[in-house]
Amino acid sequence: MTTEKIPYKIYLEETEMPTHYYNLRGDMTKKPAPLLHPGTGKPLTFEEMEPIFCEELIKQELDEDSKYIPIPQEIRDFYKMYRPSPLVRAYCLEERIGTPAKIYYKFEGNNTSGSHKLNSAIAQAYYAKQQGLKGVTTETGAGQWGTALSMACSYFQLDCKVYMVKVSYEQKPFRREVMRTYGASVTPSPSDTTNIGRKILADHPGTTGSLGCAISEAVEVATSTEGYRYVLGSVLNQVLLHQSIIGLEAKAAMDKYGIKPDMIIGAAGGGSNLGGLIAPFMGEKIRGEADYRIIAVEPASCPSFTRGKYAYDFADTGKICPLAKMYTLGSNYIPAPNHAGGLRYHGMSTTLSELYDQGLMEARAVSQTDVFAAAEEFARVEGILPAPESAHAIKVAIDEAMKCKETGEEKTILFGLTGTGYFDLVAYQKYNDGVMEDFIPTDEEIAASLATLPEIEL
Ligand SMILES: *Cc1c(COP(=O)(O)O)cnc(C)c1O
Repeated sequence: MTTEKIPYKIYLEETEMPTHYYNLRGDMTKKPAPLLHPGTGKPLTFEEMEPIFCEELIKQELDEDSKYIPIPQEIRDFYKMYRPSPLVRAYCLEERIGTPAKIYYKFEGNNTSGSHKLNSAIAQAYYAKQQGLKGVTTETGAGQWGTALSMACSYFQLDCKVYMVKVSYEQKPFRREVMRTYGASVTPSPSDTTNIGRKILADHPGTTGSLGCAISEAVEVATSTEGYRYVLGSVLNQVLLHQSIIGLEAKAAMDKYGIKPDMIIGAAGGGSNLGGLIAPFMGEKIRGEADYRIIAVEPASCPSFTRGKYAYDFADTGKICPLAKMYTLGSNYIPAPNHAGGLRYHGMSTTLSELYDQGLMEARAVSQTDVFAAAEEFARVEGILPAPESAHAIKVAIDEAMKCKETGEEKTILFGLTGTGYFDLVAYQKYNDGVMEDFIPTDEEIAASLATLPEIEL
């Protein structure tokens, strides 16, 4: 262990970069429950997934035994352009809030797409290219995933068709233009380019769309167009696997200086950044080699962990996707308008759900105005304008640091700063104007949505 002052930013040399993804499921004694076919109710097989997903990605999805999976050289080369992402010691924030705690954050916003989603997008595009595909389809809500995927596809010269929820397409033209700049075609959903889109338009004229509807369109196009497959930016095990690069880098950087976090905090939407950040630490915890407190932070308007139920549910509103056993608010749950678009999913990664159920991690729900207050406090001292999603983790990191101030404990806190908020300035404007509202669902609303869960026992 070194005695020199810990630098503001800890980087890794190119030669210290991870060469393998870490598959946490390989170390879990009780594995996450399998995805089920929506028609048969039986675990999905490789053959059933093959028309929808890329072959190598299905193998990764189904692999619950291999602990390490090599990162192909082409992906490692792309990572070198924007990774390692910095691990920053938040000296300025610590001083401003007067805490004895030591705060570190892993910053994933240092690329044009502005978030961690590029880590998985580049891997998924690579495997699609390897398979000889012409292109991929996907949906995007707020646009972070679509942006990351467009960048990845243009790098590997793959076609990229993005179905963007119509209300976002109209209200968030900037992300749309980034996607088009990278060569993607962006279609507002519902559209007249698919059967399901035409049906939805006929049934609900004037609808502004939903994520569930955009998924249905993207899947239809992938399965009915030769040489195309569908890709997804969160929730799935394969995405957590690719995002393990975040945790592996963070752990390697901390190990270099003999730093051991007491707690690890991250925002949880579908669970991919948190699953990636905690992966190697949770592995140690499961193997009994170390102990860490791990806290998932979710919006109070969409509280899957803290107020949802651990049950099989449909992954999408349209009920065409597989069933997943997860903490869920019900696939009919429509969260109130919320400015953390990336955290509005009704369910959660099956891996994180299982870990939470086993008591290996905690969860906390925070309200929107508190999140933006934390975001501004952070921006003013650390210089980075955080994405509203990321600010959920900032909020709880500051709360925990303030507890240390009361008790005098010098705890070490690590949190995931998943991205930047330049495309979220309408939300910041509402906060600055004092007109931002906190929406918190009532127990009755959640119960009504949970009452529609499918009845499945395994
Ligand atoms: C999408 C997104 C999230 C949430 O997604 P996860 O899959 O839970 O990681 C968090 N932060 C940012 C900046 C995002 O774009």
